[in-house]
Amino acid sequence: MNDTPGPLLQSLPPDLIRRFAAIVGPEHALTDPDQQLPYLREWRDTYFGQSALVLRPASTAEVSAILTLAHAEGIAVVPQAGNTGLVGGQIAMRGEVVVSVARMTKVRTVDAVGGTMTVEAGLTLAECQQTADRAGKLFPLTLPSEGSCRIGGNLGTNAGGVGVLAYGNTRQQVLGLEVVLADGRVWDGLRALKKDNTGYDLRDLFIGSEGTLGIITAAVLRLLPKPAEKATAMVAIRSIEDALALFNMAQQAADRGLTAFEFMPRLVLDFVLRHIAGTREPFAATYAWYVLIEISGAQADGTANRQLESILTDATDRGLVIDAVMAQSIAQARDLWRLREGISEAQKPEGGNIKHDVSVPIASIPVFISRANAIVERICPGARPLPLGHFGDGNVHYNIAQPTGMDKAAFTKLTPQIMREVHDLVMSYGGSISAEHGIGQTRRAELARVKSDVELDLMRRIKSALDPKGILNPGKML
Ligand SMILES: Cc1cc2nc3c(=O)[nH]c(=O)nc-3n(C[C@H](O)[C@H](O)[C@H](O)COP(=O)(O)OP(=O)(O)OC[C@H]3O[C@@H](n4cnc5c(N)ncnc54)[C@H](O)[C@@H]3O)c2cc1C
Repeated sequence: MNDTPGPLLQSLPPDLIRRFAAIVGPEHALTDPDQQLPYLREWRDTYFGQSALVLRPASTAEVSAILTLAHAEGIAVVPQAGNTGLVGGQIAMRGEVVVSVARMTKVRTVDAVGGTMTVEAGLTLAECQQTADRAGKLFPLTLPSEGSCRIGGNLGTNAGGVGVLAYGNTRQQVLGLEVVLADGRVWDGLRALKKDNTGYDLRDLFIGSEGTLGIITAAVLRLLPKPAEKATAMVAIRSIEDALALFNMAQQAADRGLTAFEFMPRLVLDFVLRHIAGTREPFAATYAWYVLIEISGAQADGTANRQLESILTDATDRGLVIDAVMAQSIAQARDLWRLREGISEAQKPEGGNIKHDVSVPIASIPVFISRANAIVERICPGARPLPLGHFGDGNVHYNIAQPTGMDKAAFTKLTPQIMREVHDLVMSYGGSISAEHGIGQTRRAELARVKSDVELDLMRRIKSALDPKGILNPGKML
């Protein structure tokens, strides 16, 4: 996409910079390009932004003061948390003020008995998980980026990840929110209630709004019972059609105990083995497709292992599984998971990569992949499709690596055409062009193309009701 900074379209007079800096303290108001760099560049180098000022508030009161001033002066701001978003939503492209919540890391309360914790938006996802774990509970959101992404960003994107199958996406983990509105007012919706039918659901409106409706500063999150045991296996299968049959068998046998069912083709495994240190080939032979299966049990009595063994035996008898390796220790389970978690990182060294984050009804996954592959081969012969993802959610990360040896820029130029045709195919199955990463800037034009006029009109009205001056993350999503 862009690899050089564009013109600074919003510059701030020195006096205004001083007034913003007075809110957070001068050391947390960054104008120096070197200091700003970590907030303007995303990890894949897909977007390289421009900002007149990066602000690092430490409290809700400071965020409120920033937005009060920004609103009064008509200054555009871009909310940012961990800067791991994959659609450029967190990157300021036109000089907007970046408001990073990374310093807001307080755990306000943990209520293990009531099953909730209230945390600030800058806590990393890994820290949220650890906080829950220390209380003897589970916070089930799990992403490969969990060491860097922050809960404010997870809420902003309604992140998914590998646990959605059993536990739901971010939205399902939230009871209440605290949000600073575009004009600086604070909505205190930090309610720890499972049931609350008092009018429109504002909480769900802010979740997944990608920083376009308000800045989330804290959340009440649900804590779940911690599984007492887990059984993990990597299995080899002949075809993606067999993944569907295997998934149905596993779900029938383990029901809600089935906590992961991740699929990937051989080429993805090749990339991981080639580029991610410490990974090992799981089998003596190579196969067309692989599935990582995890079953969790409430009691430490070996039930999860027995269930998984029984599923694999049945599936092997039916010819669905052609090879399988079951983790015999936590370390072996971690090694298997590393093969899945290293996928994002392993694609970068292979050159240009066109990414789709789509969902279709799960029974349509096999035919979708085969038709999408045909589209890609027609437009760019030799391109290498890498369809992988969260099978049980119908979520296919339909990524495409450039043909070996092709010029990266020439491949990347094909993005709009490939994206358009793949998305048209997705829509023909009643699918979604963004299952979990969001719209940001990457899919903004596509959103306008695939949503109905009625839906777009409603979304625009909501945006202008909550952010009448359009200062929150302009140019993103809508
Ligand atoms: C290796 C890797 C693997 C990943 N795997 C997954 C995956 O499996 N599933 C998945 O869903 N995502 C995945 N992601 C994408 C990313 O980690 C998620 O989208 C994550 O939720 C973003 O969190 P963040 O803190 O980095 O947010 P940022 O990138 O900082 O921001 C993301 C969006 O949220 C908005 N935002 C940030 N903070 C706030 C706030 N306080 N209030 C309101 N809006 C805010 C931003 O404006 C932006 O639009 C992956 C990313 C990487 C790098």
